[in-house]
Amino acid sequence: SSYNDKDFSFRVNGGTGRVPVGVGRKRMRIVVTGGAGFVGSHLVDKLIKRGDDVIVIDNFFTGRKENVKHHFGNPRFELIRHDVVEPILLEVDQIYHLACPASPVHYKYNPVKTIKTNVMGTLNMLGLAKRIGAKFLLTSTSEVYGDPLEHPQKETYWGHVNPIGVRSCYDEGKRTAETLTMDYYRGANVEVRIARIFNTYGPRMCLDDGRVVSNFVAQAIRKQPMTVYGDGKQTRSFQFVSDLVDGLVALMEGEHIGPFNLGNPGEFTMLELAGVVKEVIDPSATIEFKANTADDPHKRKPDISKAKELLNWEPKISLQEGLPLMVNDFRNRILNEDEGKGN
Ligand code: NAD
Ligand code: UDP
Ligand code: UDP
Repeated sequence: SSYNDKDFSFRVNGGTGRVPVGVGRKRMRIVVTGGAGFVGSHLVDKLIKRGDDVIVIDNFFTGRKENVKHHFGNPRFELIRHDVVEPILLEVDQIYHLACPASPVHYKYNPVKTIKTNVMGTLNMLGLAKRIGAKFLLTSTSEVYGDPLEHPQKETYWGHVNPIGVRSCYDEGKRTAETLTMDYYRGANVEVRIARIFNTYGPRMCLDDGRVVSNFVAQAIRKQPMTVYGDGKQTRSFQFVSDLVDGLVALMEGEHIGPFNLGNPGEFTMLELAGVVKEVIDPSATIEFKANTADDPHKRKPDISKAKELLNWEPKISLQEGLPLMVNDFRNRILNEDEGKGN
């Protein structure tokens, strides 16, 4: 296995008496909520690869069994169909809490459910962490900064969020999830970690989740025009999924609570992103302008100095390197879709 044993601390908590993984570290049992989703499934791959036991909890709202099916039959892997809005009893050492739809199209689909997932789901996972003494990591989001008035965004910035808008179910939901996390830390001594994730892309993203990278890549492959919303001058900073997963594990295993921005500081306008897709995927790709959605943040770019200094983490893969890494996966799934239609 490729991981460095020294990266992972010895856990006394849990006391499960499982066999050691390498020298000086017990094999852990880890739950990943949302582990059948895009980010979660890549995290599961990394945890299984380094030798731990993984339990995935997922209600398959946006996740897919396909994303984890290569682990089926592995005795160290378990998949539970469960909605985190309901309580659950488990015995684990660590909880990576990712369950929550991430794309605006998905989280706006049933906004009340999105809030319940963020608030009740996070409460349940924190209650679980408290009962069993497990370490808990929340995947929060750059959306807690709203339409930011500070640029780039540092963790100290409190944000500029519309509490009654169409994105509020997600951004206010995640803000409440962060509050709950800190209150369980202060009030119940739960060992917590908070990651604020910036726009992430890579293989296994839902094909039609409406996010800009998945849209542009799928459109370029399908030979459709790339849909640029508004004037295309709004910016985002795009991180490749393996960089994020490395950051999440560094955060969980490190000494610091956070919150930590995890993102790639390379900032692009949507027009520039379309240009990169054209350059690395299809030189004949075209663009088409469409109306933008409400409350769309004008710019977003992480300041990652805190994660660099305290987690010794920074992203390694540029947009130009990362985009081609998702093309095969997208092409195969689009091909399967087309074949499916022909049946
Ligand atoms: P995703 O939609 O691919 O994955 C979310 C997973 O959670 C899915 O498998 C879904 O079925 C599951 N889920 C949703 N509601 C659930 C519920 N009530 N009970 C159980 N499972 C449930 O999204 P993703 O991109 O993998 O995002 C993972 C996490 O990272 C989310 O918490 C998201 O808010 C956060 N995040 C992602 C990004 C990004 O750019 N991908 C950016 C910021 C934050
Ligand atoms: N919870 C859970 N699994 C557990 C322990 C708790 O799902 O192993 C849920 C519990 O049902 C509750 C939430 O977590 O809804 C918060 O639990 P906590 O014990 O902190 O609060 P209380 O139950 O006292 O309100
Ligand atoms: N966007 C776009 N074309 C698309 C989808 C999105 O221009 O087909 C824009 C969208 O208006 C936003 C940016 O891309 O300004 C990022 O949107 P996404 O939904 O990917 O993520 P988020 O808004 O959550 O950062």
